[in-house]
Amino acid sequence: MARTVKDAILRGRKTVETVVEGGLDTVETVVEAGLNTVDAVVVKGRRTVESAVSLGRRTVENALLGRSTMQAAVLHGREDIRIEEVPIPKAAVGELIVRVGAALTCGTDLKVFRRGYHARMIVPPALFGHELAGTVVEAGDGVTAFAAGNRVVALNSAPCGQCFFCERGQENLCDDLLFNNGAYAEFIRIPARIVAKNTLRVPDRVPLEHAALTEPLACAVHGFEDSGARSGDTVAVIGGGPLGLMILHVAALAGCQTIAIVRHDGQAEAARLLGATHVVQTASIRKAIAETRALTEKNRGVDIAIEAVGLPDAWQEAVELVRKGGTVNFFGGCALGTHVNLDTNRIHYGDITLRSTFHHTPAICRKAMDMIAGGRFQAQAFITGHAHLYELNRVFEKLMKRSSEIKTAIVP
Ligand SMILES: [Zn+2]
Ligand SMILES: [Zn+2]
Repeated sequence: MARTVKDAILRGRKTVETVVEGGLDTVETVVEAGLNTVDAVVVKGRRTVESAVSLGRRTVENALLGRSTMQAAVLHGREDIRIEEVPIPKAAVGELIVRVGAALTCGTDLKVFRRGYHARMIVPPALFGHELAGTVVEAGDGVTAFAAGNRVVALNSAPCGQCFFCERGQENLCDDLLFNNGAYAEFIRIPARIVAKNTLRVPDRVPLEHAALTEPLACAVHGFEDSGARSGDTVAVIGGGPLGLMILHVAALAGCQTIAIVRHDGQAEAARLLGATHVVQTASIRKAIAETRALTEKNRGVDIAIEAVGLPDAWQEAVELVRKGGTVNFFGGCALGTHVNLDTNRIHYGDITLRSTFHHTPAICRKAMDMIAGGRFQAQAFITGHAHLYELNRVFEKLMKRSSEIKTAIVP
């Protein structure tokens, strides 16, 4: 039997995980045994570094900190992500440097991958990814709320707190919303404003990859609350993407009857798992409307319809689903320049409320974190895969093919 971890690796026990699980001490030994950098270990055992980190904790972190560069995903344009060696950021006044524990893929990132840019959020070449949780490794001067070693979730944006909208509690509409990207990397810099307003501590028992769901869940909770649903209401959600499923789950947890309108088998399965009372699975809008209404008394229509696709056709569909006096929430953002045709009679004489919820506020982000920590929210159901940073291109290519994956946790 190999005597040191190094021997073990050299003898072909290819991953750090096997070695560590085999009882050969800790990752620290690997590093001390002469594989000087975690990089070397990573190269030998890439896919299991996640396990190595969880098993070897502090020492891997220390080893990483001995370096001045890190691996990070850089978006260069359409479907062009490259993993590059870039400087590890340093914390300026008010800032944090966080070692990323998990970064989650998201529909917005997929859009950006496909288009090569995002007008408001990202202009290439740029660091990429925005849903993350991790451990603070450096706190800049003036930071008092956090210190090295704290487990945190840092949101993707923060409002200014001073503009017309912020002063009215509509921080999601802030004129100067500050966005942060760079989650698909070993480390990320958290700007001072996000540290001050939208960085939250993660309770010890909550896995970091679950905590990373705070941002999308905040959007989902915001959309659900804006729709004014009460317990017992029937809520239809159009769309089986990550956010559609999240809104559905939030509605089910709030005691609503829920109807999931989805296209694919994997989405139908996920919807059932997340508490859908009924699942309407069809690619035909006409069928979706008829089948959904048939699930309500006298074909009256649902109390609330939430559109979570982001297509004009689906917006119109949502209006056809609600009863008189019902509420429609156009939650999914459509492409620039698109328009919809609405039946004015139906909306006016049916007294239908139309809403369109965008983004989140600091208060709602806290609510989302509490939900994740509370245990009723099934965070694990939303993370259907794990991959290493090096596999990011492949992960997005797979997501483009509309696989049954909801979110993939990217572990650097
Ligand atoms: Zn997102
Ligand atoms: Zn503002």
